[in-house]
Amino acid sequence: MVRAIVGANWGDEGKGKITDMLGEQSDIIVRFQGGSNAGHTIINDYGKFALHLLPSGVFYDHTTCIIGNGVALNIPYLQKEIDDIVSKGVPKPHILVSDRAQILMPYHIDFDAYEEERLGGKAFGSTKSGIAPFYSDKYAKIGFQVSELFDEDVLKEKVARVTQQKNIMLEHMYHKPLIDPQELLETLHEYRDIVEPYVCDTSLYISNALKEGKTVLLEGQLGTLKDPDFGIYPMVTSSSTLAAYGAIGAGIPPYEIKDIITVVKAYSSAVGAGEFVSEIFGEEADELRRRGGDGGEFGATTGRPRRMGWFDAVASRYGVRMQGATEVALTVLDVLGYLDEIPVCVGYEIDGEVTKDFPVTAKLKKAKPVYETLPGWKEEIRGITKYEDLPENCRKYIEFIEKELGVPITMVSNGPGRHEIIHR
Ligand code: GDP
Repeated sequence: MVRAIVGANWGDEGKGKITDMLGEQSDIIVRFQGGSNAGHTIINDYGKFALHLLPSGVFYDHTTCIIGNGVALNIPYLQKEIDDIVSKGVPKPHILVSDRAQILMPYHIDFDAYEEERLGGKAFGSTKSGIAPFYSDKYAKIGFQVSELFDEDVLKEKVARVTQQKNIMLEHMYHKPLIDPQELLETLHEYRDIVEPYVCDTSLYISNALKEGKTVLLEGQLGTLKDPDFGIYPMVTSSSTLAAYGAIGAGIPPYEIKDIITVVKAYSSAVGAGEFVSEIFGEEADELRRRGGDGGEFGATTGRPRRMGWFDAVASRYGVRMQGATEVALTVLDVLGYLDEIPVCVGYEIDGEVTKDFPVTAKLKKAKPVYETLPGWKEEIRGITKYEDLPENCRKYIEFIEKELGVPITMVSNGPGRHEIIHR
């Protein structure tokens, strides 16, 4: 059985916690897209961790964690994350890396930074992890596949060919230091030695595991609104964030994905530039940011303050629809306990007309939020374990959101810890 955990919003919905929780019941956990650009925050018995590249299942000794072919594989980062968790007392995880995954090269990180610098005020707000240059090269067919590390002739020829192209850009467009092909080849030899113990035909591995009745968890990064096709293009990420892509990025048939748990945040937050209709500012935003998440809403990778907003039913309904959500996990509800009233964005006004359907970016730029205000519950809800025990106004808020989404909310998260979850 394959189950996916994905985000409906801009990311940071709390997928890490839900994955960590459900990882306990899984045999295999797979990252299928993205790279080390976003992060999950996980709090468990070993401590508090910010994972960027490793799947959340690394804390269990019964799980196999897979970096799928769809991922941007930053090899030194992989090593660093493994060393980091092991140094904090976590048993060495069982990790497999797809032989078809492509390698995030040192120059991808440089090009990411150089391009943001060149764009100046028009920059994308990239995390400068090299993700956009990586996926550009993958589709331009000048990327390096893990398997190629083990074929010296192929590797040498490709390093020479790709370096030539990159150096033209470095010299004439960015006026930056050039790449030395010999040095790059040596770096790739180091990468090969690091990654060798983990390399595997992971698609075949998962296929065999499914035949044996094993449980597989696909772990998404970011959310629907950052998808290159269905998100707020061009302020999106460079690989698909949708559950559907899980089939490709993990190398499994699409019909194997039976359950799509879509994580929805009880309010909105976003990192980086881009359309965000229900965004709030000033003191109102500062207070929500301060109280949000676990110790404030700041990026897990960059530490940047997140942009804040009220729950957006238009974006979230679209978010769960594009994911194909079979169930919803509503997170960080506890954070809203301080508010007398809670505004919820239920429509967008565009050129004088109100719509409930999430539009393309050009129209989104003109959208103004239409709010409905719900009464707050003014109570601490952490520690509550039964749905019936939640304050009435809190249940009303959940049920309002559920109606707007049109998908059952099966889990309500009322705290950052692994067991702080209410099943409905
Ligand atoms: P992800 O990328 O979707 O995994 O999201 P992040 O982990 O970056 O952001 C979620 C943040 O909220 C983390 O700091 C979590 O520890 C925290 N968090 C998750 N669920 C809850 C919750 O129900 N309540 C509170 N207060 N914090 C939560």
